[in-house]
Formats: sequence, structure tokens, C-alpha cells
Amino acid sequence: MSAVPSHTHIALTDILARIEAARKAAIAPAPETRLIAVSKTHGMEMIRPVLDAGQRIFGENRVQEAKAKWPPLRAEFPDLELHLIGPLQSNKVREAVALFDVIHSLDRPKLAHALKQEMVREARAPKLFIQVNTGEEPQKAGIAPKDTPGFIALCRDELALPVIGLMCIPPADEAPAPHFALLAKLAHENGLTALSMGMSADFETAIRFGATHVRVGSAIFGARDYA
Ligand SMILES: *Cc1c(COP(=O)(O)O)cnc(C)c1O
Repeated sequence: MSAVPSHTHIALTDILARIEAARKAAIAPAPETRLIAVSKTHGMEMIRPVLDAGQRIFGENRVQEAKAKWPPLRAEFPDLELHLIGPLQSNKVREAVALFDVIHSLDRPKLAHALKQEMVREARAPKLFIQVNTGEEPQKAGIAPKDTPGFIALCRDELALPVIGLMCIPPADEAPAPHFALLAKLAHENGLTALSMGMSADFETAIRFGATHVRVGSAIFGARDYA
């Protein structure tokens, strides 16, 4: 541990305090809100200080990148929890099931069947969120709201997949609150309790609508460099 706290260490402490404050201010917060530190694009020099500060739940959006970064840290931090928050292609399902503890992007029947097959084969069952395209944006992943009850029934009841909740990414140019409200309503109506919603810009709003998991990247690690 260094004598001078690193920038990311300070940012993490600040986000945890803001989560607690938002929970206190909310009328009906979830029983618990967990922080997923989204470390995509960032290397060990950025991730280390956050691990040293005690954070154990991390999110990545690409299977290949996560596979390169995280397996060595598993041995060192056995209580690490790794979440896949980005889209999952069917040909990456085997690696994803082997690597992640939670997958947030289940959004189509073909993927549900592929996950079932690999979970049986690997005898490993990451928990699942169904991603809902609450804004019905054509370019965005996620199942349409109207198709969500049927898709939950397929995944949870027919295939017996370990579905714990719903996830959404609201449209960038709209107020997020109606999208968080819709996601919470769909989860409630279908007997699901976990809600993965809220990012750096809007996690406090998401907590107001019952978020159980917030996915925060840039507010902890700073801006991402995709170059
Ligand atoms: C990158 C990403 C985040 C984190 O976004 P920030 O705005 O940096 O907090 C959250 N969720 C998903 C699905 C992402 O891809």
C-alpha cells in the first residue's frame, strides 16, 4: 500500500460515498446496491490501486480483453467477481462461461440455448441478467420490452438458466429515469429482483429506481483511450 492514495483510490472512495448517499436519499432503494468497477480498456497500473483499495467486483465488455487481463489476478484475489457487461457472440460463449461469474447481456434465444449447452458442458453456471432494449434503438443490443416476459419464461422456466434480473443501457440522448422505471416494472412483473442499471453519469438516478448493480467506469478510472 502506498502512503499517498492514488487518484483511482480517491475516485473509488468518492463513488462509494455517493452510492451510500443516493441510497439514503431514495424512498425505496434496493436492499443492497453493488458497485461494478468497469475496467475495460484499462491496464494493470489502473486496476491495481482499485484492487488494493478493496474493490472486488469488476466489469469488462470484451471476452478477449478480459481473458488477457484477469486470470492471473484470480489466484491472487480469490474473492474476485468478474462481470461481462458487453454483447456476447455465440462463438465466444464457451470462453465467457469459463471466465465470468455474471453475464449481463443475455438477449436472444440462440444465445440462451448456447449458454445452456456450455453451462452443462463446463459444469459452471455464471448468473445471468437479461438485457432489455428499453429505448427500442435498432442499433442497440437487448430484447424489446414487449418480448421480455416471453424471453424470461424461455430462459428461466424452460431452460432453467440462472437468470437473476434485468439490465439496460438507456439511449444516450434521453433522460434515463423512464428507462430505469420501465426496467424495474418489467422485473417486478416477472418475479426478478436484480436490476443492473446506472453508469457514471446516472447511477444516482438508477439507485432511486432500485438498482442492485451500478456499472461505473470513467468516474473511477478516468476517460477511456480507445486508440
Ligand atoms: C462502458 C460501460 C459502462 C461504464 O460506463 P461509464 O460511463 O464509463 O461509467 C457501463 N455499462 C456498460 C454496458 C458499458 O459498456
